[in-house]
Amino acid sequence: MIEAKDIKAFGYRIGIDEIGITTAEPFDQALAKYKKQRTKELFTDRQHRHLEDTKHFYNVRIKFPEARSIIAACQCYLTNEKTNLSEPGDPHGLIARYTWRNYYKGLKNRLRELAHFIKEKTGASFRVYSNGPVAEKPIAVRSGIGYYGKHSVVVNQTFGSWIVLGEIITDIEIEPDKALDINCGQCEKCIDACPTRAIVAPYIIDRRRCIQELTNWYGVLPDDIAEVWGNRLYGCTVCQDVCPVNSKVAVRLPSTDLGSVGSSISLLDILNMSESKYRQKYPDNQITARWINFKAIQRNALVCLGNIKDKQTLPILERFSKSNDGVFTKTAHWAIGKIRNA
Ligand code: SF4
Ligand code: SF4
Repeated sequence: MIEAKDIKAFGYRIGIDEIGITTAEPFDQALAKYKKQRTKELFTDRQHRHLEDTKHFYNVRIKFPEARSIIAACQCYLTNEKTNLSEPGDPHGLIARYTWRNYYKGLKNRLRELAHFIKEKTGASFRVYSNGPVAEKPIAVRSGIGYYGKHSVVVNQTFGSWIVLGEIITDIEIEPDKALDINCGQCEKCIDACPTRAIVAPYIIDRRRCIQELTNWYGVLPDDIAEVWGNRLYGCTVCQDVCPVNSKVAVRLPSTDLGSVGSSISLLDILNMSESKYRQKYPDNQITARWINFKAIQRNALVCLGNIKDKQTLPILERFSKSNDGVFTKTAHWAIGKIRNA
């Protein structure tokens, strides 16, 4: 026997920021919402690696029939490091804050330690995930870790949305927590701030316009999106940057240094690198995970250069404008036009 309070006490002792517990019942409502959004064509044609197996994603019992409880956890990653390391002559592209390091792996390691503690006391079986093939956001919400913000990201009362999520799925019964009875109220700051108007209604994102999604979608970006892209190399956090809950979160030292890539990367380096060099240089981080399309990253770098408008970068843009790849040539021509017309 083990009680929820003992699990939480051990988890907090090893540095997990918040823990909530829910049952292993399927997440039928979340699945229905996902299906409805799919019919409205709010997705790009990119295959989402976790949604290849939708049934399992929303029902952990498909692959683990004995599952009874889910221990949900979050880890805050807000630090006060400089966000743009550009220097004169060396423009950088921004990396979204949540993947400056591999915070998922950091949390997963802690969850494994917690799972072993539970196993020692109870003999329980478990599966441990962070950024894994389970419905992390619905799990976090039902376990009381946080509530949905109108940008569709989970917001924790203490750590805002500056959190990564993780889970232990286990075959023992543990007293569940309640979902929070909180919402964003009248605030719509994230909706107003989104540069591409991708938050089409509260809690509904048009992923075909969301920079977070498009940074790993390969194709020619529509001009209106490229124009407001800024210098984002991977991901986007504008809707989180403006959130009043997030502005009250205390900064801290990094909780892990696994897979560290920093807050921005030299765009010229990215464009001069081979794919294998890229994958070797930034191991153990989401930006080089197997599902990341390196060509999309280079396309992002071209868009960034078009928006930065530094004439010194014209030679490399000229090189890409003569590529055999139509996405590169069109994007490089767009960037050259932006610089020449500046
Ligand atoms: S991630 Fe960026 S593009 Fe996507 S909804 Fe948020 S602000 Fe808009
Ligand atoms: S910006 Fe406002 S509406 Fe958006 S998530 Fe934060 S509190 Fe909610």
